[in-house]
Amino acid sequence: MSILGATGSIGQSTLDVAARHPERYEVFAVSGASQVEKLLAIAAQFEPRYIVLLEESKAQWLRDALNQKALNCEVLVGEQALIDIAVAPEVDTVMAAIVGAAGMPATLAAAKAGKRVLLANKETLVLAGQLFMDAVKHSGAQLLPIDSEHNAIFQSLPVQFREHPYQSSFEQAGIEKLLLTASGGPFRTRALDDLASITPAEAVKHPNWSMGRKISVDSASLMNKGLEVIEAHWLFNAPIDLIDVVVHPQSVIHSMVQYRDGSVIAQLGSPDMRTPIAYGMAYPERIQAGVKPLDLFSIARLDFEAPDLVRFPCLALAYKAIRQGGVAPAVLNAANEVAVDSFLNGKIKFTQIPELIESCLSVQYDLSALNLEELLLADSQARAYANSQVANWSVGVAC
Ligand code: NDP
Ligand code: MG
Repeated sequence: MSILGATGSIGQSTLDVAARHPERYEVFAVSGASQVEKLLAIAAQFEPRYIVLLEESKAQWLRDALNQKALNCEVLVGEQALIDIAVAPEVDTVMAAIVGAAGMPATLAAAKAGKRVLLANKETLVLAGQLFMDAVKHSGAQLLPIDSEHNAIFQSLPVQFREHPYQSSFEQAGIEKLLLTASGGPFRTRALDDLASITPAEAVKHPNWSMGRKISVDSASLMNKGLEVIEAHWLFNAPIDLIDVVVHPQSVIHSMVQYRDGSVIAQLGSPDMRTPIAYGMAYPERIQAGVKPLDLFSIARLDFEAPDLVRFPCLALAYKAIRQGGVAPAVLNAANEVAVDSFLNGKIKFTQIPELIESCLSVQYDLSALNLEELLLADSQARAYANSQVANWSVGVAC
């Protein structure tokens, strides 16, 4: 396997599962960005052949540290090296777990190279859904969704959908709806007047899941669910109107498929990403993932409610962007990345995240999004516009 983003939350969980099955998985290469000490620990435990970083200074620190420990891993630097470890002939499985659009080029390269792609990096599908799915189709890559909701839907779909996703339709399979569950995040019941004063520390504290900072803020704003609607649209060739969001605060049901005959098939489990990761790694087999068994008696009850689009405008913005099509989802994603970063750095308020995204979506982009170049241009134009808006607003927020 190559693990892109091995130092992150998903990357670490992937390594945890791999370590439980050394006879099945060999880690060929890993990547990270800032956490070089974690990479050193990974090298000591898994002895990958390659480690990829983005900056030469960090790479040099790591080379020296590896030398001192007599560890024999080669340290490579830069975006092309990320692509190289994603397409290397020795690799059959790629875990795509870099955060944000930065993960897209190597994830797309893995798909083009016909790898078994374990897709956590949802931003790839939001930015370049059609291109990515075309690449999967043409190369015969096997795509396994890792995002817990999409993994749950994958598990709840008829077998022909799992085996031949591009020859199946909702109509033929009798599917009426995909029901994406959402915990509602930490601010589901917070007084509306208090939302503007939410701090980054509060926003990254998810009630059920332990995740990276960006996806934690996305979960708090419900943009994560918006990105996931778009992700589901591309992964399962699902009409947008057939994807519903159901708020389910316990995060026990990870998502559901509703069928024509009245059946609803769901996947349940403890909120631990090692379950979908192990499912993707071993599919179609099932392996030990170190996850606590679900105890329904201690959970005792499951609640459901409709999402509150006044409290969480980001979800409505995501539906709007995917319905608009073209470059709009790429713009939504780029604007959101700038907004989250600006919020985490105390430059904008939590409530300004949707405002910033909406203002970016209202700009006319003279692009039809037919190719990667145009999508990347839309991405960079939206980032530039969003950053200029943040500079104009110049609102300080106490962290
Ligand atoms: P983290 O922030 O924990 O980890 C991100 C990883 O990407 C780290 O290895 C980080 O390196 C690396 N990275 C950061 N910036 C760059 C960059 N510019 N170029 C290359 N690598 C970079 O994120 P998560 O693990 O939480 O999430 C990863 C992806 O999986 C996201 O797309 C997220 O939406 C998705 N996902 C995550 C879930 C979760 O439970 N965490 C659930 C479902 C989906 P370093 O840490 O060394 O700086
Ligand atoms: Mg999810």
